[in-house]
Amino acid sequence: PVERVKGNVEFQNVSFSYGRDENTIKNICFQVENGQTVALVGPTGAGKSTIINLLMRFYKPQSGTILIDGKNIQTITRESLRSFYGFVLQDVYLFEGTFRENIRYGKLDATDEEVEEAAKKANAHSFIMKLPNGYDTKLTEDGSGISQGQKQLLSVARAILRNPSILILDEAMSNIDTVTEIKLQEALQRLMQNRTTFVIAHRLNTIQNADQILVVYEGEIAERGTHETL
Ligand code: ATP
Ligand code: MG
Repeated sequence: PVERVKGNVEFQNVSFSYGRDENTIKNICFQVENGQTVALVGPTGAGKSTIINLLMRFYKPQSGTILIDGKNIQTITRESLRSFYGFVLQDVYLFEGTFRENIRYGKLDATDEEVEEAAKKANAHSFIMKLPNGYDTKLTEDGSGISQGQKQLLSVARAILRNPSILILDEAMSNIDTVTEIKLQEALQRLMQNRTTFVIAHRLNTIQNADQILVVYEGEIAERGTHETL
C-alpha cells in the first residue's frame, strides 16, 4: 500500500562515497517544499543519480542527514519509504502480459476502471484503444511493437495510478516523435501537479518550469536557483 506523506525533503550536509577515498557527494544541502519541482542538472558522473539513490536509501550517507517531513529517513521502515516514491525513468520496465496488467503494476489492487482512468490522464488511452485487443493486447517483455514514447506514456499511467507523494523523473533523451512528446509533456504536468518531484532534467522546458534548479558538479552543488536567477 502507498503511504502518503507531505513530501517535504531536506538534505543536511550529506556526504557519501561508494567506497573509494574521495567522496562522490560532498556536503549537499537543499530543502524542498512539498509540491515543488527540483531539477537536477550537471554533466555525466556529477552525482545526480547518487543524490536520488541516497534519497531512496539505496545507500547510507557517510555523514549528514536526509529528512522527509522532518523525519530522518534512516528511522523510516524500508517498506514505508518505498511506498512514498513513484518513478518515470528512461528505461521503462515492461513484462509479458496485457497492457492492463502492465499499467496495474503501479497499484496491484486497482480496478479496470481505475486503470483506464489513469491511462486517460496519461494520454495513453487513445493509442491503447487502437490496438487489436485494446487493454487486453499482450505486450512482449522487451515492449517490441510500441514506441519509446508510448512506453513513457505507460510509465506515466502507472505512476498516476500509484499516486505517490514523491515523484522521481529521469527524462528520456531518446527520440520521441513530436506528437507523442506533446502528449507526454502534458501527461507529466498532470502527474507532477501538487507532488514533490525530482527530475534529472535534459529538456530546457523542464528546467524553465522547475521551482529550484540544482547544478551538480563533481559531487557538489555548484549553483542553485531558478531559470530566471541562473
Ligand atoms: P549521468 O548523467 O551519467 O547519469 P550522474 O550525475 O547521475 O551521471 P552518478 O551516477 O551519480 O552521476 O555518478 C557519480 C559518480 O559515482 C561517478 O563517478 C560514477 O562513476 C560513480 N558511481 C556511480 N554509481 C556507482 C556505484 N554503484 N559504485 C561505484 N561508483 C559509482
Ligand atoms: Mg545518472
